[in-house]
Amino acid sequence: MPWYRKLHWQIILGLLLGLGFGVVAAAEGWGPFVDAWVQPFGTIFITALKLIAVPLVLASLITGVASLSDLRKLSRIGGKTIGIYMVTTAIAVTLGVLLADLIQPGKAFSPALRDDLVSAFGADSQARVADAAAVGERGPLQFLVDAVPENVFAAFGDNANMLQVVVVALLLGIGLVQVPKERGAPVLAFFEGLNDVVIRLVDLVMLLAPIGVFALLADTIVSVAGDDPGRILSLLSGLGWYCFVVLLGLGLHTVVVYPTLLRLFTPIGLKTFFQGIGPAQLVAFSTSSSGATLPVTMERCEEKLGVSEEVSSFVLPLGATINMDGTALYQAVATLFIAQAFSLDLGLGAQVTIVLTAVLASIGTAAVPGAGIIMLVIILEAVGVPAAGIALILGVDRILDMCRTVANVTGDATVATVIAASEGQLRPPDLSEDRDRVVIT
Ligand code: ASP
Repeated sequence: MPWYRKLHWQIILGLLLGLGFGVVAAAEGWGPFVDAWVQPFGTIFITALKLIAVPLVLASLITGVASLSDLRKLSRIGGKTIGIYMVTTAIAVTLGVLLADLIQPGKAFSPALRDDLVSAFGADSQARVADAAAVGERGPLQFLVDAVPENVFAAFGDNANMLQVVVVALLLGIGLVQVPKERGAPVLAFFEGLNDVVIRLVDLVMLLAPIGVFALLADTIVSVAGDDPGRILSLLSGLGWYCFVVLLGLGLHTVVVYPTLLRLFTPIGLKTFFQGIGPAQLVAFSTSSSGATLPVTMERCEEKLGVSEEVSSFVLPLGATINMDGTALYQAVATLFIAQAFSLDLGLGAQVTIVLTAVLASIGTAAVPGAGIIMLVIILEAVGVPAAGIALILGVDRILDMCRTVANVTGDATVATVIAASEGQLRPPDLSEDRDRVVIT
């Protein structure tokens, strides 16, 4: 198959063309045209991904659990998964703290630029602070309470909470194991059929990916640049050190920490891993949402990395909801950056608090664009840094959101591969390219 027919190259092309078109559109003032004629394709792509995420998680988790006769195994996998998720997130935050301490991006920040940014983004940052206040009022165990839906249909309703979907699917799967086989068989057959259909739909939606990614990138560039195309460059140069530290941390975590885990605990080659997961990373980058990327992450882990459906259908939805290494790392750097910019010294105690709160905050962060900066406010308040400081970093947040979402998704896929290997549920990966492109017959 020629390279240009392979899906990942088509997505990369869409991404680059979207970037280029976005820059030209911003420079030429085509914002209204992009809003009316380009952005809808991006919205359709994200919405279609979200649309299949819920039935996919439901059907694959129910069939996965129902095929397990041993529920002890399920709790063992669950314990291991949550444990590894917490450890990798703690490593990510610690890395962020160390890099921000070492490079001190906020010290190089001019007070004049600081005042400019506070006046430019102050009003916007107020809205985030208000959102965070609502989140902050909830108790520490509220996320557990929220995980149990009181109405099955509400769990799948608007803004479906993936953790609730996981809980419903687990309960249904466990129930199916407990009733006599002939009673459960029709229900199981229904979900098995639904599972096959939805997997097919992921392939179909991915046909839209190159166009969707193009539209999302063009729209992001136009909305970040506003009326002034030079704005992105001036923001990036003003906040260059801050962006550099976040990107360095995300890069190190992705190319050092995950590969180390994969080498230590799985037989999978790094090239196979990154090639397999590549399209999911590209979708994560353009959608800034690990929730919307979930169907692609699941498909790639099963098809290209050889992770069993039983593991991927449990570990990945859970990861998309509670495991956010990239977000936690970014929150650590942002907290120290804002503190340094306001000349506040954070001692060791405050830095340990950052590690602890960022690990907990990442559990509560929704897998949608921009959720990380809202939870950041809670961390800032925990260490006494003025929350209004988020005005300093708001201008570049979308760009960093795209990058941290890539790390979040890569982390989920790494842990799924490690768990599958530890359970003897990692098949030799499928290296053929034929499934890259759906064949409609
Ligand atoms: N956009 C991120 C995600 O979906 C969350 C965040 O950091 O804002 O993974």
